[in-house]
Amino acid sequence: MDQPLPNVADLDPAGPGDIAGIRRLFECARSDQVPGDDFLAEVIARSPCARLRGEARLMLGMMVQIREDPAAAVPHFTRGLRDTWGSGGSIERRAVINFSILCVSQQRPLEAMLLARRGRAISAADEFHAAISDLNLAAALMALGDFQRATELLRAVDEVADRLRGGERRYVDVIRHMYRIAAAYENVSVETARASLQYLESAGETGICSSTMWCFRARVAFAAGEMEDAVCALQHLRSPDEPWTEAIADSLLLEVRAYLRLDQREQALALALTLIERLEAPISDSISPGNRLETARVLAEEIGDRPDSADLARRALAIAATGALERIWQADRFRRDLPGFEFLTGEDRRVIDEYHGRFTSAYGDVLSQMARFLASPEELARSHAADPSEQLICVCAWCQRIRGPEGLWLDVGEFDPPGGSVRMTHGACEPCFEETLAVLAAPV
Ligand SMILES: [Zn+2]
Repeated sequence: MDQPLPNVADLDPAGPGDIAGIRRLFECARSDQVPGDDFLAEVIARSPCARLRGEARLMLGMMVQIREDPAAAVPHFTRGLRDTWGSGGSIERRAVINFSILCVSQQRPLEAMLLARRGRAISAADEFHAAISDLNLAAALMALGDFQRATELLRAVDEVADRLRGGERRYVDVIRHMYRIAAAYENVSVETARASLQYLESAGETGICSSTMWCFRARVAFAAGEMEDAVCALQHLRSPDEPWTEAIADSLLLEVRAYLRLDQREQALALALTLIERLEAPISDSISPGNRLETARVLAEEIGDRPDSADLARRALAIAATGALERIWQADRFRRDLPGFEFLTGEDRRVIDEYHGRFTSAYGDVLSQMARFLASPEELARSHAADPSEQLICVCAWCQRIRGPEGLWLDVGEFDPPGGSVRMTHGACEPCFEETLAVLAAPV
């Protein structure tokens, strides 16, 4: 690989230089001998060929992703997508698929889902890339809480995998087995999840880190009802300076659930408190709103509203409601503005609307559970007096409206969401406060 890089001036979109240049860039990327940022910047600035500029932007995006911060790679991918959009063939497909994988890892499931759908549409004649697109779509759907459709897709990929060979087969195998374990105790049977775990245990070098493997073992044990084994596997994840990630949140939740099934309630509640405190802290930004919604909702359900856990459950529900609100706002933003996603079809927009509806109903469910907790005169008075001066969003658990500026109660759609993540407190608006108090005071 000592061949010099092609001259940008030689990369003529009308001539063979274009194709040779793209091929050369591609070769460099494959052989880890990636061209420098300067070279790529020159291609982006000077090449009259949009496809080539797009390819260079993608490569720059991938380098930024590996070298620095995956989040910083998103704008490169977005522009690369725009440049390669509609060019058809392998470059556009690579743009769509790589961006989709990035969005999965960046907890941007709505974008990942749309990109995976596009990847599927332009990979019809190519089973391998169609399977990768389906796997990305399955990951996005799981992140959106839609396990039903995710497992249908995983089943479809199982059939395709049988026809693939060599490196393509292995790539698809590792990912589909990981996802089958991730879906264990949702729509995937214990036997299937266990078979997937056995595959990964014996597959040699898969690139899966050891803490993720312990997490998988714990999930499978939990799904099989082997609670001691689940707790044992989770002990391997304990490290005080472990960075706060979705995997850690998942494993803490799993441990709470396992201890509850072992009738070790005290242990379970102590861990539940740890999990809630971490989810409430500003560092929980590294956990996506969807994960906060699902983790906190399941936690509240598991610990229940017994006297020793009512306060914890209420805090968990506030976290879940905030996650649902953030998801609703994200979907709203998507409906208005999605730069770089020129390919959106009417069907894509219908899918976004559908998820908007799902988050709205999750928000409603969580708040009605919260209202149950607040249904005593003391709790009601306490939540009614929630301090509006704090940097918190106050939501009425009864009518689900949000207190906006100047104390006006607004519907979710009318409320102008603040940037970044939010914290929520639950209260009761004036009419709901009066009404509920009257109901509670009425003789039974
Ligand atoms: Zn109200």
